[in-house]
Order: sequence, then structure tokens, then C-alpha cells
Amino acid sequence: MECYYPPSMDRVIKEVEFHLEKNKNLAQIFEVYKGILAVQLDILDKIKTSVNLSEEELKEYFRNKKYLMADQKIEIDSELFRKILQSVCKAIKEASPEAPVSLLRLSEAEVFNEENIQEFLRQIALYNKQELESFIEEKEIDKKTGLDSEIIAFVIFMSLSPFYSVNMKEVRGKVDFSSWRQSYCPVCGQTAVIAKHRNEDGARVLECWLCHAEWVYPRMECPYCNNNDQKKLRFFYVTGDKARQVHVCEQCKRYLKTIDSKIMEKDALLDIEAIATSYLDELAKKEGYKPPIEMVVLN
Ligand SMILES: [Zn+2]
Ligand SMILES: [Zn+2]
Repeated sequence: MECYYPPSMDRVIKEVEFHLEKNKNLAQIFEVYKGILAVQLDILDKIKTSVNLSEEELKEYFRNKKYLMADQKIEIDSELFRKILQSVCKAIKEASPEAPVSLLRLSEAEVFNEENIQEFLRQIALYNKQELESFIEEKEIDKKTGLDSEIIAFVIFMSLSPFYSVNMKEVRGKVDFSSWRQSYCPVCGQTAVIAKHRNEDGARVLECWLCHAEWVYPRMECPYCNNNDQKKLRFFYVTGDKARQVHVCEQCKRYLKTIDSKIMEKDALLDIEAIATSYLDELAKKEGYKPPIEMVVLN
């Protein structure tokens, strides 16, 4: 399967402009997004991969429904991590001047210093958004830095993302993810929160928001509870925009935003679509559906 990560900045700028024409209110969040993406793209070739499993060993993981990081550690260079973290904070502050100035000092927090950082990264390696936020509160990192746990967690995830995606690409170079059929990522284990129907054949593709792995999941089944009773699966969209859909499951009451690339006649960039379609989240929640797991997006 062709992979769309990392996207070229040119393409990102075009897609962002397209969305801004329809909704000017997204200007700031897209500035933040572009600033962070520039940091991530810039750092990718400085990251070394650390997954040394053979093709056969990787296949064994996926056959057993085990995601890679469940017991494989991804090496993260302390200094490089701090550097990315600092650049991400700077990018956020530049794109949204009203962000607290203490953001610029986050990378100096005790938890990220040389003695603590590896242990911290080890502890949070498998956390989702809620778990990381709770952990930050428990350790009082929010109090000590004067920042909300939500923004700290967001910055940490955005700083981890390049490390995970470099390793994801290394893994995908050995095995594709065609045997993987879960709602969570084969590499880092995060739950997918958005999908697309790909342009070439209409297959449903889930994408990991953290490491950007992509894998196919059957369209006629709910990824979160495996319900495949067609009477309990449906989708809706806002009139005039059939390409941007909300697929819901009446059994587990969860929803999955899905971008139909066939209708758009080009493959969607899901990070951008996830931001641009926040109105669909509102709509779905109003209808009584729950997100797969809360999305990591600044708003
Ligand atoms: Zn992942
Ligand atoms: Zn379900």
C-alpha cells in the first residue's frame, strides 16, 4: 500500500487553503499544525531506527494481534527528544501568541532532564491521551510548569511522533500491515480515530494519528466492537459534503469519521481532515455517539 506520510509541505499548504476558504475559524489551529509538522519533517532524517526484528518475527507479532511496542522498546535519544519538544513548543507559541509563555520553558522541566527523561519515556510509552494526561497530573508536572496537562500531553505526543513514524517506516519496509485487522495501530498500539475510503479501490484504511501507520479494515464491520450486523451500522454526512462522513455503530455507540477519497477523487490527508471536520465530532456527540477515544488535537 502506498503511504502518504510524510506529506509534502506543498500539498499540506494547498489542502489547508482549501479548508480555510470554507472556514476561516480554522486559521490558527492550522498554523499550529503546520508549525509542528515543519518541526517533525525537519527532524526525521536525524532519527535512527531501533527495531531489529526480522520479517518473520514481525509477522509473528501481527499474526498474534500483538502490536510491536507492546514489548519492543523504541530508542529515543534524550537530547534529540528535548530539542524536538522545545521546537514544538516554540512552533505552538509562534502560531498562537496567546499560548502561555511558560510553554517555552517546558523542555527545562525536571522530568525531561538527563536523569529522569528515559524513565519517564519508558513509563508513558504505551499511554493514550487520557492516560498521559492523568499521569502528568499525578506527577504534578502541570502544577510545576504552570501548563494544562492537555497541552503538555499534546506536546509530548507531537515530539514522540517522529520517533515512532521513523520506526513504523522501517517495519513497513519489511512487512506490510495486510494481516493486521484491529482498531489499534500495529506499531504503537494507539486507537485509530479517523479513516478513509481509499481512492484506488474504495477499501477502508485506518491511520494511526501518532506513528502514521495505515492498514485496511473491512468496511462492513465496526472496528471497536467487531459488530458486523449491517442493520446496526450506518453513516451520515452534512448535506453537500458527502465525502466527509460519520460512520456509527448502534451496538457500541461509537463513531468513526471517514473521508471518502473516491468521492473526492484524490486521497485525503487525514491529519488535516481530522482538524477540518471537528464539526462532525460535535454532530456525532449530539446524536449520542462516543468518539473511539478522544482525539489529540489542540482546540
Ligand atoms: Zn501508531
Ligand atoms: Zn461497535
